[in-house]
Amino acid sequence: MRRCQREATGNLTGARSANFVTGFRIRRQRISPIEIYQQLLRAYGPQHWWPADTPFEMMVGAILTQNTSWTQVEAAITQLKRADLLDAKAMLACPTDQLEMMIRSTGFFRQKALRLQSFCHFYLCHGGIDALQKRPDDALRALLLAEKGVGPETADSIMLYAFGRAIFVVDAYTRRIFSRLGLVSDAISYARLQSLFHTQLEHDPALFNEYHALIVFHAKHHCRTKPDCLACPLQEACPAAVVNKAPAPSPCG
Ligand code: SF4
Repeated sequence: MRRCQREATGNLTGARSANFVTGFRIRRQRISPIEIYQQLLRAYGPQHWWPADTPFEMMVGAILTQNTSWTQVEAAITQLKRADLLDAKAMLACPTDQLEMMIRSTGFFRQKALRLQSFCHFYLCHGGIDALQKRPDDALRALLLAEKGVGPETADSIMLYAFGRAIFVVDAYTRRIFSRLGLVSDAISYARLQSLFHTQLEHDPALFNEYHALIVFHAKHHCRTKPDCLACPLQEACPAAVVNKAPAPSPCG
């Protein structure tokens, strides 16, 4: 599996233009989405997403990763691989309680086992990867969204990483980072945040693939709930950067 530079309409907040670094106000210029991408790529390098051997394995991973960490999903995928269940027909034929045991590490395993089997049914009924791949973006996305348990983030992950469509994946990390960078409000909707990327970036699946992966890496390593701004590659451009310098020694000792 693997610019246009139009202004996004109405979905950008007025970026804050200043930052505090221990009492010093520093002027910041708003950074563009493509500049953010370039800086993250320079800092972290290619992320080689999505980590899956086949499009079907990718789709299974996208469903399993809901409300859990990727480490837990990897454990489940390993179990499914060992049991030769990373195949829609085999997974559908597997007794649900056995499937539940194999994906137990991912949490909500009863619900996820049912959703996986429902997804297998959907996948087979629509002719599998080759037939689904022939559908245009809007029709394919609508089909995915009609599946129980497939919301916009999961549908768009599948669109991008399994079908190679130029659809930007938005998640809580994207909202956190881009609101801290002053480009959007932290209450922006999924659709409006997605439109920021769709209007300001070239519609290139490879770019969208790498960009989302870099956002996830950045959110895990620097822009966490409590951010680690000191060595952040975006710190110079970030209005929300918190850089605590050591206090100057007191002249009185
Ligand atoms: S400077 Fe801090 S708040 Fe801004 S993007 Fe980097 S880690 Fe996040």
